[in-house]
Amino acid sequence: MRKKTNTITCWVCGGNEFTLKKTSDISTDLTSENFAITNFDYGKTGELQQCISCGFIQCTDLDAVVNFYEDLRDEEYENTRNERKLQEQKLVKFFSKYKNKGRLLDIGAGSGIMVEAALENGFVAEGVEPSKWLQQNAQKRNLPVYQGVFPHPKIRGPFDVIALVDVIEHVTHPSSLLTDISEALANEGILVLVTPDVNSIAAKVFRYKWWHYRFAHIGYFNKKNLTVLLEKAGFSIVKMTRPSWYFTLKYLGVRFLSFFPKFIRFSFPGILDKIVVPVNLRDSILVVCKKKIQK
Ligand SMILES: [Zn+2]
Repeated sequence: MRKKTNTITCWVCGGNEFTLKKTSDISTDLTSENFAITNFDYGKTGELQQCISCGFIQCTDLDAVVNFYEDLRDEEYENTRNERKLQEQKLVKFFSKYKNKGRLLDIGAGSGIMVEAALENGFVAEGVEPSKWLQQNAQKRNLPVYQGVFPHPKIRGPFDVIALVDVIEHVTHPSSLLTDISEALANEGILVLVTPDVNSIAAKVFRYKWWHYRFAHIGYFNKKNLTVLLEKAGFSIVKMTRPSWYFTLKYLGVRFLSFFPKFIRFSFPGILDKIVVPVNLRDSILVVCKKKIQK
């Protein structure tokens, strides 16, 4: 069904012709739990419309989402802190090839795991996080994470690195967020961005069982329209690749079983909680960009 409307404008290209991609699963009022990082409700989303000109998929019935993040608590996220730390260490190591010192800002910093990894690698790091609970957890560890969203009155550039890892799919104005980031970056600074790829093989194979279809994700990019958005915001791409994530075998087992009916679920032996493996499902995009310098 093709929908021409003046009420929806594509967040990437400004187009206003859309096809309905998926109807909304919102039946009762959503709560912060639906937005938890480790939420299991794969395949549940708001109404998704796909832009005919650039293919970007955006949610049209969820817009004021920031309140959900402010009240978000996620014990399981904190329980998997060790493996998440490993993941952030690998990511810091990766982008250090492009920028290995200076001021770093992590947007959507959670409880400061990347901030911690960056500090350990010689960066002067800080972060910003909407969830009060996650921000307090960062504070307890003496990690400099401010509560709120970016731009933030206490956060001043220029930064040498700004990280936007698994964040841009959660925001209603990705274009203005990137413009604000560009303004806060030093001329030679880099933006490190990670987001799911809706054109990946995993997304196609699992269709609406794909783990990235969830209420919290309100924008779905592919490599092409992400490139369009970044270039419009004044960035040029230095490297585009696919990130690996690090998980314990237990975490993966529990996630895997969630695809099956409840009666075949069982508990896993404790040893699986100790073994961490890299996973590259090739279903996310990792981009390193620089500002285009006006000559
Ligand atoms: Zn578009």
